[in-house]
Amino acid sequence: MVRRKKTNVTVRRGTDRQDRLRSAVAGLKGVVRFNAPLKEYTSFHIGGPADVLVEPVNTEDIVQLVMQAHAQKLPIFVLGGTNVLVRDKGIRGVVVNLAKLRAIKEEPGSVLYAEGGVGMPTLIGYAIRRSLAGLEWAAGIPGTVAGCVVMNAGTRLGEMKDTVKAVRIVTPSGAVIDCPAQDIAFSYRRAQLPAGIVAGVWLQLKPGVRSDIEKVVKDYLRYRRDTQPLALPSAGCVFKNPPNDSAGRVVEAAGLKGAHVGDAEISDKHANFIVNQGHASAREVLALIKKVRAQVARKTGVKLELELKLVGQA
Ligand SMILES: Cc1cc2nc3c(=O)[nH]c(=O)nc-3n(C[C@H](O)[C@H](O)[C@H](O)COP(=O)(O)OP(=O)(O)OC[C@H]3O[C@@H](n4cnc5c(N)ncnc54)[C@H](O)[C@@H]3O)c2cc1C
Repeated sequence: MVRRKKTNVTVRRGTDRQDRLRSAVAGLKGVVRFNAPLKEYTSFHIGGPADVLVEPVNTEDIVQLVMQAHAQKLPIFVLGGTNVLVRDKGIRGVVVNLAKLRAIKEEPGSVLYAEGGVGMPTLIGYAIRRSLAGLEWAAGIPGTVAGCVVMNAGTRLGEMKDTVKAVRIVTPSGAVIDCPAQDIAFSYRRAQLPAGIVAGVWLQLKPGVRSDIEKVVKDYLRYRRDTQPLALPSAGCVFKNPPNDSAGRVVEAAGLKGAHVGDAEISDKHANFIVNQGHASAREVLALIKKVRAQVARKTGVKLELELKLVGQA
């Protein structure tokens, strides 16, 4: 008797959850995928499933999704996919991917408006064709323009805060607000933005000479190819640089190049990259991170902080 009662409760709870997920995504124009394997959406090729993954087609679709998910009390996570480690049991609730929001518009005064899902390489290509300078520093960053704002992505040549003019955000209540850059507190790999989904970004660029812009971009891409393990899946730099030092240097100094747990390995080309040598799990990556932090602290006294975002359930 007791056993049968328990089973009924479980079935009803599961059904309730499915109903809520279905209601959250009802009537959207974009792609909706239940039980979506997130390893297909991450540059690491690692990650368990999302309960439901949505690719909205425009800002109105995002607004509708946000309001419906809110009504169903379901959390939303936005995934660009190039600086995150999704744990092996995946993400509960709604995962949003902005791959279909990829329009770019030129506005007067050397301003570009890019929808949130535009990839940085595409945006840089557009700027080059329009002879607009100011994004060369980002050559080789694979994330979306929205993800780059949220992370205040950067390189030794510059960072996102140098070019952002304003950001369009869909707030948790479904309002669309435009937030000027001066109201955003940017710091190292961080931007304090109003809560919500970044749906678009205005970038202030400047007129330049196409061949000069192209040369800086090509030189930086070559530098990356020479110094980073771009042929293997990764999520870029794992640790933030400690003050006045480089995380890659301290990891290497601690003798960790080539260290591995299963298929997760510290690159021997750049020690701040963990590469997936085949079928690495999030659990293996996390075990390797733990090992690196402990050995670096013991050998160099440096406490490494994660740049990589950890999400989902273990
Ligand atoms: C080979 C390689 C090289 C890299 N080189 C660099 C580098 O030189 N410099 C650098 O800074 N980074 C680098 N990265 C990391 C990564 O590309 C950047 O951090 C980028 O900004 C992440 O963008 P994303 O769209 O993939 O966001 P994700 O990594 O998916 O997300 C990062 C965070 O932003 C949030 N987020 C993403 N999109 C939105 C949105 N639309 N609205 C609200 N929140 C959002 C996510 O929820 C998450 O919290 C590299 C990565 C790789 C794989």
